Amino acid sequence: MKEFHCGSLVPGCDWHTRAEEEAEVMRRAVEHMREAHGEDIIRESMVDAIRSRIEKVRDAA
Ligand SMILES: [Zn+2]
Repeated sequence: MKEFHCGSLVPGCDWHTRAEEEAEVMRRAVEHMREAHGEDIIRESMVDAIRSRIEKVRDAA
């Protein structure tokens, strides 16, 4: 499982997402950036910033 906490990038935001694949976490994170933070254009630097903050998490059933 991979997890991304938006608050690690946007202080004060407590949105987070978790998915099996990093690509899916990225997809959701980009969508969230657009919808919640008005980032119409997701730059490469933003993608890198998100990717570097995605954490591997243990599966907890
Ligand atoms: Zn956010």
